[in-house]
Amino acid sequence: MRYTDIAIIGGGLSGSTAAAMLGRAGISTVLIDPHESYPADFRVEKLSGHVQVERFLKTGIAESVLRRATFVGKNWIARFGQLLDKAPSRQFNILYDSLVNTVRDDIAASVERICAKAVSVETSPERQKITLSNDEVVSARLVVLANGLNVGLRRQLGIARTVISACHSISIGFDVVPAGRNSFDFPALTYFSERPSDRIPYLTLFPIGARMRANLFVYRGFDDPWLHELRRAPAETLNAALPRLKRITGAFDVPGEIKIRPVDLYVNDASGQPGLVLVGDAFATSCPAAGTGCDKVFTDVERLCNVYIPQWLASDGMDTDKIAAFYADPVKRACDEWSAAKAFDFRSVSIATSPYWAAQRWARFLAWSVQGLLRPLGGAVHLEPNFLGHSSSSSSSRSSSSSSLSSPA
Ligand SMILES: Cc1cc2nc3c(=O)[nH]c(=O)nc-3n(C[C@H](O)[C@H](O)[C@H](O)COP(=O)(O)OP(=O)(O)OC[C@H]3O[C@@H](n4cnc5c(N)ncnc54)[C@H](O)[C@@H]3O)c2cc1C
Repeated sequence: MRYTDIAIIGGGLSGSTAAAMLGRAGISTVLIDPHESYPADFRVEKLSGHVQVERFLKTGIAESVLRRATFVGKNWIARFGQLLDKAPSRQFNILYDSLVNTVRDDIAASVERICAKAVSVETSPERQKITLSNDEVVSARLVVLANGLNVGLRRQLGIARTVISACHSISIGFDVVPAGRNSFDFPALTYFSERPSDRIPYLTLFPIGARMRANLFVYRGFDDPWLHELRRAPAETLNAALPRLKRITGAFDVPGEIKIRPVDLYVNDASGQPGLVLVGDAFATSCPAAGTGCDKVFTDVERLCNVYIPQWLASDGMDTDKIAAFYADPVKRACDEWSAAKAFDFRSVSIATSPYWAAQRWARFLAWSVQGLLRPLGGAVHLEPNFLGHSSSSSSSRSSSSSSLSSPA
């Protein structure tokens, strides 16, 4: 049996960030994950916006990731084949496996890393027992469950899941290359839906190294034949759905594999479990189209590792009252509520046909147009491109509970 204060189950973005933070703080920690190196996987590929980057910086381990990512300081915004704005942006683009593996490189040697799956967890108000796929057993004061979308341990532990929206959105990731020329004209581009009936909120194109990545989001069923068409003839299907896109991008090809991932919105409730705390996707998922998943990951892990774990370890036991303080943390709750609200509002502003949401769509379009027109005048008026009606001359003015009518840049 191995003894530790903290056992982290899952070495994705949440678990690896927590392990790096706890290792720096000199807290006895074990990280359990079946993969020595995080494998290629389609998840977040872009850390963007002041708020998200600032949340990452608060963990204290962002520097090496941000250095490794492809930085883009300007993002073109377009709709109806018209360029609306060349907005300043703060995008750090990086594939998910590189992101997680760079965070893992920052984990101190004092953190023990076990390459195995946790197959069962027994919790109590004192010590927790974790049995691994290699038959080892770990005894910990606290289990941080950061196992993402995996359902096995949740069922074994009897953690209740509430599905808030099944197949809320579908994320599609692929590379694009310009046809018949060497490069695209834009540094990065967000192209918004032309018609709500296409059920596409937006397409975002952004460089990662020499590649131009595309993340396309759609609100469709996973069995929708449109997805089959997209796989079969990607450039043609995209051009049919966004007929004026080519005015901005020029002709393009889609050379490689297309990854399609549906996302359910759910929340897991483990508040009745002593000795166990859920973070990141293991606690609740987010809508990738709203781009808030990493805000939730960084907020969860920063609050847990900077505030609660040091407090909890300072006294005996790990009962449910201690754990409840984390789930009630006002910063965490505000971030979770903002993320959930944004998932629904963003869906409505993209595809709802009521007069209210149609007006919101037009207001957004006008705001971007005005901002794009005023920008050459020296920024005397500065509307935030992603937060309709919210000034952003200072990033701190954008509270995490601000308007949901925003999109990731
Ligand atoms: C397609 C897609 C696009 C996205 N785009 C964005 C975006 O643009 N912006 C944004 O902010 N967010 C985005 N997100 C959300 C973001 O990627 C996730 O919120 C984040 O990756 C969650 O990280 P995690 O560490 O909680 O989970 P994961 O990264 O899934 O990590 C879970 C880890 O647990 C391990 N594990 C599982 N079971 C066990 C076990 N039994 N024992 C040990 N280890 C185990 C796995 O091996 C894995 O390493 C997107 C998500 C998806 C799916």
